[in-house]
Amino acid sequence: MENILERFVELGAVKKGHFLLSSGKHSDTYIQCAKIFEYPIEAEKIVGMLAEKLSGLKIDTVIGPAIGGITVAYELGRALGIRAIFAERENGIFTLRRGFEIKEKEKVLIAEDVITTGGSAKEVIELVRNLKGEIVGVASLVDRSKEKQIFDVPFFSLIKIELEIFNEEDCPLCKKGIPFIKPGSRQR
Ligand code: ZN
Repeated sequence: MENILERFVELGAVKKGHFLLSSGKHSDTYIQCAKIFEYPIEAEKIVGMLAEKLSGLKIDTVIGPAIGGITVAYELGRALGIRAIFAERENGIFTLRRGFEIKEKEKVLIAEDVITTGGSAKEVIELVRNLKGEIVGVASLVDRSKEKQIFDVPFFSLIKIELEIFNEEDCPLCKKGIPFIKPGSRQR
């Protein structure tokens, strides 16, 4: 797979155009990593490339924040031959349910599909630290963060995607009269 971004576009995980995001802002790019996992054999290859970047790390367990991080954690667990679990929100707070546990000193990697502000990943880092686990890093398929150093642990990503985000009133795509698409809604 020479051009990872091209593969993401082919799978429909990255789209270029004019989009109304759930935040109400407009963008020229839309990212939906769930599309990669529509084809598990593709997902295995793509997440396998992310796993190659982690080869120097000693990891016991990979944990993903639900929902986006679940399949990434699962595939990383397969590629690295380690345990994969996920954290989910209960009353708004990330927690371990379903009998999942993290032991003291356990070496834990956080897995995500897309890192923007890193909010969910940071919450799961805190959860793991509260359980006295050791965070070895964060791994994400896509890095669309703006900050230089978003985490206090090493951050690995497969691709970096720069997004242009606009308020509706300053959106250059609106000014050009290009109709926007609301991703996730039915298109006619
Ligand atoms: Zn617009």
